[in-house]
Amino acid sequence: MIRTKLILILLVSYVAVIAQKKQKNNSNKRAAIEAVKTKTNELTELSDKIWSFEEVAFQEEQSAAALMTYAEKQGFIITKNIGDISTAFMAEYGSGKPVIAIMGEFDALPGLSQKPVPYKDPLNEGGAGHGCGHNLFGVASLGAATAIKEQIEAGKLKGTIRFYGTPAEEKFFGKLWMVRAGAFDDVDIMMDWHPSASTKANVQTGLALVDFMVEFAGQAAHASADPWNGRSASDALELYTTGINYYREHILPSVRIHYHIMDAGKVVNVVPDYAKIWTRVRDTKREGMEKVWKRVEKIAEGAAIMADVDYKITLISGVHEVLVNRTGAAALQKNLEYLGELKFTEEEVAFAKKIQEATGKPQVGFDTKINPLEETLEHPRGGSTDVGDVSWVVPTIRLGATVAPKDTPWHSWAVVACSGMSIGHKGMIYAAEALSMTMVDLYENEKLRSEIKAEFKERKGGYVYKGIIPDGPPPVNDVD
Ligand SMILES: [Zn+2]
Repeated sequence: MIRTKLILILLVSYVAVIAQKKQKNNSNKRAAIEAVKTKTNELTELSDKIWSFEEVAFQEEQSAAALMTYAEKQGFIITKNIGDISTAFMAEYGSGKPVIAIMGEFDALPGLSQKPVPYKDPLNEGGAGHGCGHNLFGVASLGAATAIKEQIEAGKLKGTIRFYGTPAEEKFFGKLWMVRAGAFDDVDIMMDWHPSASTKANVQTGLALVDFMVEFAGQAAHASADPWNGRSASDALELYTTGINYYREHILPSVRIHYHIMDAGKVVNVVPDYAKIWTRVRDTKREGMEKVWKRVEKIAEGAAIMADVDYKITLISGVHEVLVNRTGAAALQKNLEYLGELKFTEEEVAFAKKIQEATGKPQVGFDTKINPLEETLEHPRGGSTDVGDVSWVVPTIRLGATVAPKDTPWHSWAVVACSGMSIGHKGMIYAAEALSMTMVDLYENEKLRSEIKAEFKERKGGYVYKGIIPDGPPPVNDVD
């Protein structure tokens, strides 16, 4: 028994050593890492530029232009205005199959302006900030695409490389209109990453969601002199949120319902004739989300009946949960294991600990461990992303890379701070290396590509993808 165990251990170690050697011997991967490394300064500069532009959803004109200019200089051919969005674009190099692509986001979040310091200190009071690290996101992806482009140019890899500039992830979900425009239809495999507080091949689905606006319209009247002549839209709004909050007791733990009151009257002495509330419903599966969505719409109807006002529901947009691809993730995982842990300097660890102190977290520094590939959970926690929609159209491999201290509150000043200094830059370069290595696998290994596609087909089953968006143009001018 012990002997069998020993043989088994030796065999496993032997296979691991061979795998390591294989990675080391892959000159294209080494060249990709080298290509990224030599671009560290220019990629950092580009990322800092986008960080300082701090442009929010659908207004990322300077950020998109900076990425396009860089890509054009590298020899990529640019296609602009995808899906009638001026900041959505594609940068392409090479020709023929396979078409391997990578996505990059670059929008900021309103109200999060912050200097690159480990305590809260806005750069521009009330301004936006990269609280999701999308300045790093776009640049690392373009850096990885550029490393691949150089190898196609040198004749070492065959096919097409594309970088997709995907705007408005934080609001409206720009990728939905890019999918609708068919932008990804001929892509074989898509790569994607996201700045994070840990490093891993991401095999979780996130949550499906829908956004819709509920408006109530009644009759204005003097709030004291003749309130009996009034029918209050804000009464309906209050009844609506009360209904939602009673409903919370009866929803599954995987469901989330949020709302943002946008208008509930202007002054205290008028019975408001108009009220408006942005509502968001999420669940780990699209089907579950849809059920709750319909019920919440009923609550709006009930509230309108009670307040004797009219109501209107307008779909804004919604995203699918991510269709995970574990075969692709396993290929990425091997490259993470080869690259090893991301290293930070003493100063960076001190910076991280100060952030942890300021945000009330244990002062433990960074989480850079490369753990074995996680199980894919049936009901994961977390947020939602429009990458989900792309993942139902083309097999998508996703990376998370450490750009902030462990437990950092996301969408906060702390992420803005890290994204604008060396901690974020390091994570960005690491991500670009891991992504480009994995793309080398995708070009070189036809069997891997077909296994990834087979898994995609199997997981998708008979579902025919349909985006959750209204007809008509994207809401690019809706800056409310
Ligand atoms: Zn994000």
